[in-house]
Parts: sequence; structure tokens; C-alpha cells
Amino acid sequence: MTIQWFPGHMAKARRQVTEKLKLVDIIFELVDARLPLSSRNPMIDDIINQKPRLVILNKEDMADPAATKEWIAYFKERGIESVSVNSQAGNGLDKIVKAAEMILKEKWDRMRARGMKPRAMRAMIVGIPNVGKSTLINRIAKKNIAKTGNMPGITKAQQWIKTAKNLELLDTPGILWPKFEDPEIGYKLALTGAIKDSILNLQDVAIWGLRFMEDRYPSRLEERYGFKQLPDDMAAVFEQIGERRGCLSSGGGIDYDKVTDIIIRDVRSMQFGRLTLDIPPKKA
Ligand code: GDP
Repeated sequence: MTIQWFPGHMAKARRQVTEKLKLVDIIFELVDARLPLSSRNPMIDDIINQKPRLVILNKEDMADPAATKEWIAYFKERGIESVSVNSQAGNGLDKIVKAAEMILKEKWDRMRARGMKPRAMRAMIVGIPNVGKSTLINRIAKKNIAKTGNMPGITKAQQWIKTAKNLELLDTPGILWPKFEDPEIGYKLALTGAIKDSILNLQDVAIWGLRFMEDRYPSRLEERYGFKQLPDDMAAVFEQIGERRGCLSSGGGIDYDKVTDIIIRDVRSMQFGRLTLDIPPKKA
């Protein structure tokens, strides 16, 4: 699901997350492991307001593993714990519980010291559209709830998903908006399918993708399309790819739209392998 964001939507989204904040002990901020910064909400720190937080880098199966490690280190340096998971396959879910326990340990110890009975941790997932919030919630629910049944009454009433492991998860995620200001971020979001294809010019998105591959993964670019370095003339690039992949228009020339689709589809379907589009900043 992709949403077009307007100021009114943003205010409403913010309000909905803020209202639920008081129900939970910890926020699970879900991001796309391919875009650990670009897929974050620009006001997230302000919105969650000191609430303990775990950053979850989802879709780790699509991201460059070396970059994912660097991103986890990046967050750690800034005092933010993070873990990487693949919600689709259900890999890494245990890491979430462990990390949350660690983050909340002091608070729980304090409660115990005051003689309070330990209870399950309460968490909610927040993130921009398409980072995998529903997938993760469904995964956790499927794994840990014996039978909820499909009857609307039952699923509606169930506000908390009780996991076997000391964690209760709010069954609806907080949906926040992505960053729009920086065109580069827009291209990254579009290339990974995080924003509607109609928002940006897709040919520009495809060209940005080619330039990125040239810069970061030239051998993969060469393997797939036959050039390591892109000539300045982008039309020539599209023609070569089009010829290779048989993208002819009815008039006999190259169909540029088809080429655009192929490039974008190749990135999204991992034909270039696992890619991380946000480059981890070098340590100072
Ligand atoms: P939401 O809008 O944040 O709730 O995102 P969804 O849960 O609807 O997921 C968006 C898309 O990402 C869906 O096509 C999911 O199948 C896919 N997806 C979610 N998690 C993962 C993951 O860990 N790996 C991969 N490869 N795809 C995922």
C-alpha cells in the first residue's frame, strides 16, 4: 500500500502514533535494510520522544550483508540498538525479543526492586509504508498465536498479539511518512518500490539506478547489461539494454518505457543481487 501524503495526513499519522505511545514500553522502528536512513521518518525522534526504541532493519535478505553490518554499527555509535531481520521468511525474529529485553533491562530491574511483578514488554511497530510492518506483525502472530480464527469479531477485538516470549505487540502498526525533500531519497524510495510509481518520472528513477550501479557495483552492471561504465549518452545506454532484452516498439525502434521497466524490475527482483542503496557513512 502506498499513500500520498499531505500535511493533514502527516498530522493525523503523528497524532495516531503519539496516542499509542503511552500504551507501550518500546518502539520498534521498522526500516528497509536497503535504505536504513532514507526509509526513516524525518521526525521520528521528535515523535517518539525519548521512548526506548529498537531499530529493525527489515528485508535483510535483499540488502548487502556487509553494508547491513556497517549500518548496525552506525546506529550503535549513536546509542541506538538495531537488529536485522527477514520478516517474509521469519528469520531473526528472536533477535528482536532479545534486543528489546536488553534495552528494557534496567527499567525492569528497577520495577522488580520496587517489588512490582514483572509483566510482558509492550511494543508497537512504526514505519513508513512498505517497509514490511504487516508482514512482521503477521509473522509474529502466526508463530505465536495458536488459533485466532478468521472471524472478523475475533481478530478485531484482539488488540495485543501476545508472543510466547515475554512480549506483547500492538496488532496495528503506526504508519509514518517518508522524507520527501531530497530528490536522491525520492529515487531510492521509488527504486525499491516504497513510493508509488506515479510520483516520480520512472525514466529518471531508472537512470539514477544505473548510475548507482556504475558507482557501487560496476561488475554486476557489466554482467547484466554489458557495460561497466556508462557512456554520457543515456539514450545509447537504453538502446543497448533494449537490444539485449528485445524491447522493440511497434515502429521497430527501441521502446524506452519497456527498458525503464526492465531496469527497475531488475533492481526490485534482485537481478543485481543484494543491494544497499544508502551508503554507510565512513567513520570520522
Ligand atoms: P507495510 O506497508 O509496512 O505493512 O509493508 P508490508 O508488510 O505490506 O510489506 C511490503 C512488501 O514487502 C510486501 O510485498 C512484503 O511481502 C515485502 N516484505 C516484507 N518483509 C520482507 C522481507 O523481510 N524480505 C522481503 N524480501 N520482502 C519483504
